[in-house]
Amino acid sequence: MKRVLLPLTFLLFIALFLFLAFGQATPPQEKVIGTTHAPKLLYNNSYKKFQTTASFSAVGDILLHSYVYKDAKTNEGSYNFSPMFSDVKDRMSSADLTFANQETMIGGTELGLSTYPSFNSPYEAADALKSAGVDIVGIANNHTLDRGEAAILNATNYYDKIKLPYVGSYKSQKDQETVRVLNVNGIRVGFLAYTYGTNGIPIPEGKNHFVNLIDMEKMKQDIKVIKKSSDVIAVSMHWGTEYQRQPNEQQKELAQFLADEGVHLVIGHHPHVLQPMEWRKGKNGNETFVIYSLGNFLSAQEKDYKDIGGIFNLQITKKLDGEKTEILLHDPSFSPTIVLNKQKSEYQIKLLNTVNKQQNTEIEKHMFQYLNKKENEN
Ligand SMILES: [Zn+2]
Repeated sequence: MKRVLLPLTFLLFIALFLFLAFGQATPPQEKVIGTTHAPKLLYNNSYKKFQTTASFSAVGDILLHSYVYKDAKTNEGSYNFSPMFSDVKDRMSSADLTFANQETMIGGTELGLSTYPSFNSPYEAADALKSAGVDIVGIANNHTLDRGEAAILNATNYYDKIKLPYVGSYKSQKDQETVRVLNVNGIRVGFLAYTYGTNGIPIPEGKNHFVNLIDMEKMKQDIKVIKKSSDVIAVSMHWGTEYQRQPNEQQKELAQFLADEGVHLVIGHHPHVLQPMEWRKGKNGNETFVIYSLGNFLSAQEKDYKDIGGIFNLQITKKLDGEKTEILLHDPSFSPTIVLNKQKSEYQIKLLNTVNKQQNTEIEKHMFQYLNKKENEN
C-alpha cells in the first residue's frame, strides 16, 4: 500500500504545483496604468508589442482686447477669465493633451494692461487656460515683442510658476535650447513654435531667444534635435494672410517643407478666421496633418467669421512591434465655437452647434473641404 501511496502523493503534489503555476485564469490582456492623463495602454502577449493612444486638441488665438479683460475684472480688482470658458471647458479638457495659441503676452498688471495694437494681458488669463484643460501654450506671435523684454520675462516666469509649459518665446538661450516634449500615455509629443514676424518691432540684439522666427534653416535644425526625444512632432505656425479663409501659397509651401522634414502635425494661426485642414505627403511618404488656421478662440473681434473658432481634435496611436515603432494620426474632428457678448461684456465661448446649427454645418464643411475632396477622389 505504501508503495502505491508515495507515487500517488507525488503525482498529486505535481498536479497542485502545475495548477498553481499555470492553472489560474489567463493573465489580463488589457492593463490600465494610472497617470494624470488616464492612459489607455493595451499590452499584448509579447512585452515588446503594444499600442497606446492619446487624443490631442488645439484651439486658436487667445487675443485679449480691453473689452475682454475689462469684462474679466472682479470687484476685488483681480481678473477671472474662467467664466468665459465654462461652456467649452469640458470639451477642451477631455483631450489628453491640449494646445492653445496665447497671442497676447501676459506681462501682468504691473506693466499696465494694454490692447490693440500693443497688447499686454493679465496673468490670470494663463490660470483660466490651465483650468480649462490647456497643457501647453504657443507664444511665438506677431505680438510677442509688443511690450518688450519685461512682458516676455514676466509671462515666461508666470507660466513656470503655474507649471504651464510654453513654446516659441523664451527667457534665455538656455530656455530656448530646452526641448518641450510632453509625455502622454507613453507617447512623447515634441512642440516647436514659430512666427512670420513681430509687427516690425526689432528683436533686441543678442536676444534671438525672445521669439522664434520662421527660418527654414533654424526649423530644420530644431526638428532634427527634437526628433531624438519625440514620437510625434507638432509645430505651431503663426502665418498666413489676415482675414483670408484660404491658405496662401507661402503657407502651403511651408506646410510641405514641414511634411518633408517629418513633422506630424502643423497647427496654424494668425489669420483670425478659420482655414481648412488637410493631409500633406512628405518626401519620405509620411503623412502630415495640417490645420492652416484655427481662427480666434477668444477675442473681441466680431463679424466676417472673426468671432468663429473651434476645438480641433485628433487621435494619436503609437504601435510598438519589436524594434519597429509606428505613429498613426487618425480621426480628425473639429467642433466650431463662437464668441458671444452682450454689449461688449459677458464674453463667452460657446459651441456653435448650440447657437446656430446651420452655421455650424457650414463651418464644418469649410474645415473639411480638402479632406472630403481627397476622399472623393480615392
Ligand atoms: Zn497674429
